[in-house]
Amino acid sequence: MSGLPTAGASGPVWLDGGLVEWERARLHAASFGLHNAGCVFEGIRVYGGRPFELRRHCERLSASAGALGFELPCGLGELERAVLDAVTANGHAEAYVRPVAWQGDEVIGIDPHGTSVHLAALVLPWPERPRASGVTLAQSRWRRAPADVLPPGAKASCHYVTGALALREARAAGCDDALLLDRRGYVAEASGANLFVVRGGAVLTPIADVALDGITRQTVIALARRRGLTVREERLLPEDLRAADELFLTGTACEVQPVAAALGAALPEENPVTRSLIAAYRELTRAG
Ligand code: PMP
Repeated sequence: MSGLPTAGASGPVWLDGGLVEWERARLHAASFGLHNAGCVFEGIRVYGGRPFELRRHCERLSASAGALGFELPCGLGELERAVLDAVTANGHAEAYVRPVAWQGDEVIGIDPHGTSVHLAALVLPWPERPRASGVTLAQSRWRRAPADVLPPGAKASCHYVTGALALREARAAGCDDALLLDRRGYVAEASGANLFVVRGGAVLTPIADVALDGITRQTVIALARRRGLTVREERLLPEDLRAADELFLTGTACEVQPVAAALGAALPEENPVTRSLIAAYRELTRAG
């Protein structure tokens, strides 16, 4: 789950109403979004030229801005068109789109009143890389912010300070990703993905009251139920991960990603439920 490099990227970027060259998609150093994290974003996968779950990502971007107290400069239809224009202009069949909205440079201070709102959509080709067979998770000392510290449903830059600290620590410990608990000690999520446990044939996932309620998470819950699996959203403790039959992560970028070891304990190599959900997700995203 390493980041996508932007070195060498040159495709057009949709910025504030139209397409501009990659090099011209810049913001001012006084931007409120930069100083005060007045910034929200999305990650969207493009499969066969089509952005997957475009409407839901646009709705979440708008809701994330609302949670931080600002409005996007356009409605959902225009936002969708901006993403589609950027995707078409870049021409990659397999891609990742990063829509981002931030508060502008009219004010330096804490009160963003009077700032403009900027909107961009960047497109990067999705690299052909072999799927990681199973990732390892280290328990982080950093906790996902409680709902009275940061708005939990918002995909907002402020949350990713915690995510980046946790990921750095996990990588330093030789693991691929971090497992973040919430303030109460319950399992929240990984640095940029939701977590699922398979135990006794049932699929369990933390209640998303603190974690981001991922679009992939919702899709996989629906796919699992459609396949007759029992899915429960419930409080999970670190012990539940060690006792799991299978563990997997979900997210736009990692899709359905098996976990090979968590918190120092190796998971069983057999993961039939995970494999069936990987196949179901692949079929859905690559459908017609
Ligand atoms: N949690 C966090 C912190 C994330 O950054 C992401 C990726 N957007 C997810 C969960 C998964 O969300 P989605 O399935 O909507 O990509």
